[in-house]
Amino acid sequence: MISPRLRPMLSSFPAIAPKPLDRKWNCPMKITDLPLMARHFLSARWNWQHLRGPALERYQERRAQQIVAYALQHSPFYRNHWANHDPGSWRTLPTVDKRLMMAHFDTFTTRGIKRDVAMEVALRAEQSRDFAPLLNDLTVGLSSGTSGHRGLFLVSPAEQAGWAGTILARVLHGWRPHHLHVAFFLRSNSNLYEQVGGTFIQFRYFDLMFPLEEAVARLNAFQPHIVVGPPSLLSMLASERSKDKLRIMPERLISVAEVLEDHARQAIETIFSVRVQQIYQCTEGLLAVSCQRGALHIQEDIVMLQFEALEGSEDRLVQPIITDLWRKTQPIIRYRLNDLLELDPAPCVCGSGFRVIRAIEGRSDDICYFETLTGELRPFFPDTIRRMILLASPDITDYQVVQERNGQLHIYLQTEPGASFERVAQLVRASVAATIAQYACRSADVEIEPGLPPALPGKKLRRVRRLQ
Ligand SMILES: [Zn+2]
Repeated sequence: MISPRLRPMLSSFPAIAPKPLDRKWNCPMKITDLPLMARHFLSARWNWQHLRGPALERYQERRAQQIVAYALQHSPFYRNHWANHDPGSWRTLPTVDKRLMMAHFDTFTTRGIKRDVAMEVALRAEQSRDFAPLLNDLTVGLSSGTSGHRGLFLVSPAEQAGWAGTILARVLHGWRPHHLHVAFFLRSNSNLYEQVGGTFIQFRYFDLMFPLEEAVARLNAFQPHIVVGPPSLLSMLASERSKDKLRIMPERLISVAEVLEDHARQAIETIFSVRVQQIYQCTEGLLAVSCQRGALHIQEDIVMLQFEALEGSEDRLVQPIITDLWRKTQPIIRYRLNDLLELDPAPCVCGSGFRVIRAIEGRSDDICYFETLTGELRPFFPDTIRRMILLASPDITDYQVVQERNGQLHIYLQTEPGASFERVAQLVRASVAATIAQYACRSADVEIEPGLPPALPGKKLRRVRRLQ
């Protein structure tokens, strides 16, 4: 994702004509929500500066106990799921995951909303691309479901206000107050973000499905101070900026929804001369936000993360189990997420007591496998695959890797113009062979192709993918 010659993937997306590209987000916020949002904003600031050590632990314990008690009373699913366990020892309660949640959706939430009804509302919104799907007073969200399971999420107005207040506090560290324009690029699927609008801040929503040229024109007119979007989109904007087609001077860039890789981050930061901040959030919750120093801090006053070491990673990689400390409509308690994280054992120099995620390595679904000389299967983590390709040659500008079966790799390479593709492919082959041999595995069946596969509209970009 370095070069300005990035394929403008968005431009190949079908334009959906009748809808306007953007809409103003100064939607009439319920007046009752404003104090709530302000309260969360202030407490988020306070927590960030003061919660640490035993005080943080007590805080998390108190919130978790409240959420568990609430779920026990109002969610038939959890009541049943914990039937033979002591809810007081919530840290060891049986876990849940997306599959289990979706299978028991009708009894999972605390509002008795049926899965079919919620799904219909969400799908209708997705098809019409009118993302204000409400069910009674609840916002309905649909998770992207890269692994084939779509997840449904319900959020109440109070939860939205809390989310908005918190995220503003965490993103706007040390921000001087002035009228702010914020551009949000979203893949769609909920009006969760619309809450953040008003006199001092104007949000504008850009649909990722729209053509890039149109987005560029609208951005030039809007002149955002902050641009929020997936890193693949930010890279495309950087490319437009370097061609002088995009003429904006954002003060912050915020990466969401996909893993922000180092080489993409550096390229975007160089072109815009501004740091890329990262929000690590999924429909299951707000997990981490980067600080002024660029470290990705777990939002420990919002979610309690427990970790399980991943087998075969020598304890380097962990998988999180999430307990959301606030959400009551759809309680997320001991929810297993299949992302792979590397934690930083050292505290951050910014002074916050919240722990730091050093890297998000992708999804456990994307671990690739190669056969060892003794016939066993050895896992190769997405980060290892990434490095063995990127480090092979400086002429690689972008890449994607798909493993269709054990011991095999299909590699797509985009190279600098003028570079010999054959030469680069040869270097990549050598690098793959060396890495795989280093782990005592049989040589891999490698196919290398020039150019990247066409992007699927609205799909998250995953550079390393394992087909299940
Ligand atoms: Zn920090």
